[in-house]
Amino acid sequence: MYEVYALKYAERDTTTCQFFYRDSAHEPLTLHYFVWLILGGPRPILVDTGFKDDDARARGIRNYVSPAQVVERVGVKASDIPIALITHLHYDHWAGHSLFPNAEFWVQQDEVAFWTGPWARYAAFNQSANVPTLADLVTLNYANRVRILPGDREVAPGIRVYRVGGHTAGLQIVTVDTSRGTVVLTSDASHFYRNVETRQPVQIITSLPEMLAAFETIHALAGSSKLIVTGHDPQVADRFKQVETGVVKIA
Ligand SMILES: [Zn+2]
Repeated sequence: MYEVYALKYAERDTTTCQFFYRDSAHEPLTLHYFVWLILGGPRPILVDTGFKDDDARARGIRNYVSPAQVVERVGVKASDIPIALITHLHYDHWAGHSLFPNAEFWVQQDEVAFWTGPWARYAAFNQSANVPTLADLVTLNYANRVRILPGDREVAPGIRVYRVGGHTAGLQIVTVDTSRGTVVLTSDASHFYRNVETRQPVQIITSLPEMLAAFETIHALAGSSKLIVTGHDPQVADRFKQVETGVVKIA
């Protein structure tokens, strides 16, 4: 059976009015930044790569630790990871790809098309981009290190990705069968529990209807065991078992 870990590598402070869709309150809001790791199969499977210290410096991030270091806290060497499922190509999920030099990156076709297509150059979208690492996609693809998926896919027995879109054009979420039930790694289909539980969108969107539909998909996939792991919520450490600072065992 698989084990799933949420590994925190950074934090950032903002306000609710800067983040939630049409929210007028100026309440403080802290985002935690995670990569997720699935153990228990023949080889570890990583979900997202985080970012490197250049983005940490440029974007006012605090308590940054390299994602390559946080995976070592559960006994995995970054260079031993053969597959990284990339939920989407925002800097905080993709810009750290070179920390995992032997991984094949599984990403949705709609996501690759978007960031190499006509809308990416607008400020409304490109503030979430680390441009050199998006250009790397082409080089990595020709090196047979990118698997471009045309929709939902079984990654391994008991591990699946689902394309939901909404927050980005080809956002995918991940489910993992565990002894506690099906874990749903929502990534930024639901940054906070407030999103999925109250159907509250965020401000960074490619399709608002897809974002709302994704909330329903998350609930349907999670079923009654409700093992929902949201993308940036400090509450992940409270709702699941924090085994040491920044290391949360989901199942
Ligand atoms: Zn994110």
